[in-house]
Amino acid sequence: MYLYNSLTRKIEEFKPLKPQEVNIYVCGLTVYDFAHIGNMRSYSNSDFLKRTLLYLGYKVNHVMNITDVGHLTGDDDSGEDKLEKQAKKTKKTVWEVAEFYTDFFLKTLKELNILLPDVLSKATDHIPEMVAFIKKLEEKGFTYETNEAVYFDVSKFKGYGKLSGQKLEEKLKGAREEVYVDPKKKHPADFALWFKRIGRFANHQMHWESPWGEGFPGWHIECSAMSMKYLGQTIDIHAGGVDHLAVHHEDEIAQSEALTGKQFVNYWFHNNFLLVENQKMSKSLGNFFTIEDTQKKGIDPLALRLLFLQTHYRSMMNFTWDSAKGSNEALNKLKEQVVMLRKQTDRTTLSQEKYKKIEEYRDRFIAAISNDLQTSAAVAIMWEMLKSNVPSPDKLDLLLEFDQVFGLKLAEVEEEKIPEDIVKLAEERQQMRVEKRYEETDRLRKEIESKGYTVEDTPEGFRIKRLK
Ligand code: AMP
Ligand code: ZN
Repeated sequence: MYLYNSLTRKIEEFKPLKPQEVNIYVCGLTVYDFAHIGNMRSYSNSDFLKRTLLYLGYKVNHVMNITDVGHLTGDDDSGEDKLEKQAKKTKKTVWEVAEFYTDFFLKTLKELNILLPDVLSKATDHIPEMVAFIKKLEEKGFTYETNEAVYFDVSKFKGYGKLSGQKLEEKLKGAREEVYVDPKKKHPADFALWFKRIGRFANHQMHWESPWGEGFPGWHIECSAMSMKYLGQTIDIHAGGVDHLAVHHEDEIAQSEALTGKQFVNYWFHNNFLLVENQKMSKSLGNFFTIEDTQKKGIDPLALRLLFLQTHYRSMMNFTWDSAKGSNEALNKLKEQVVMLRKQTDRTTLSQEKYKKIEEYRDRFIAAISNDLQTSAAVAIMWEMLKSNVPSPDKLDLLLEFDQVFGLKLAEVEEEKIPEDIVKLAEERQQMRVEKRYEETDRLRKEIESKGYTVEDTPEGFRIKRLK
């Protein structure tokens, strides 16, 4: 398996710490608004990675957090806590906001057939772990305290900037002047580990006791604390979107490695954005669609999965309704293939040539997914295989095998039950057709179509399909 590692900016051979076992941490959603299909591109891609590892025989230990506190509107510790802001706007408690959007997120993951993590951990359930983490950093001299917060002092950590490749001076330039930041913060890249419940946060609903007074944790500390608690000091893979690379993940590395003196993550996996009209789809811009929006337009969530498979995870992808509809049709074709292949059950003895062909398709599929998840190539190999002269039962077996990675639930496809009256009309039409009574044939076709179905004439007879 070869994977692009954002830390080294190279494609590397993937070598887990333990043979055949992978520890993977995926940054979860900040639950202040609906999970949108942009977020879902991210979680689908980490799911393709997880499924690939499972398919290749690894045991996978997967942890994902839910960010329900501490994620401010500004990456530079400015602004408000995203959940508190939404709570004020909707006149709900923060806890209600968190629960509502977490449920929606989990429902969306399920619709997209994304494998759930072994541990799904909420930030608010891990406050003691975070406090202990900060305390240790303090003891080691990596922090300083102001009236408003406890900060991580990036100048004390030698490797700061190694993930983004940005120097500290460049980070300085990035600081915005128009927003409020703690005047006692020494460097713009320093980041809050703990916010005190004073000043702009005096009315913060979520708060806990700590050695630095009542308050709440900053966003970055949660991922380090939970990753270490469940997966250990060094893990194999940490996944998330590219927007988290320069600040969130850089800060995770700094605080974690400052604490342990060991490498925090061996492979950083970052996926690129889903765009709408060439802008990042995002909750803050409000230009997003949820899975429900797409379902209302007749798009099967699994068709979105198929769509995501078509663009490599490190490339940007522009979302259009036309592409979603195209993918829906492709998924329907795939399902029809499954139904058809299931009917062709006579397993013939395989000739040497056909046996070789099956092996070749499998090898090419494995080569594609193992090469930094070339998923679109894997999908193309699947279509090519379906068109080949490999015997039907073997085609079906191979298709379902590939679907362990694609996750399109092809094994669960059910043949659609066509209502009796439609079947009768189609049989009647067939009879008229045989008798060359074309006017009647046409009339019956129209009648069938007015009931939401259509008939296709094939060399083997007629086939009824539901009109989409
Ligand atoms: P957040 O709730 O902002 O932490 O986002 C959750 C995950 O979705 C993160 O890994 C983000 O990087 C990712 N994400 C957010 N917007 C997009 C997008 N438009 N395309 C792909 N991934 C996204
Ligand atoms: Zn995170």
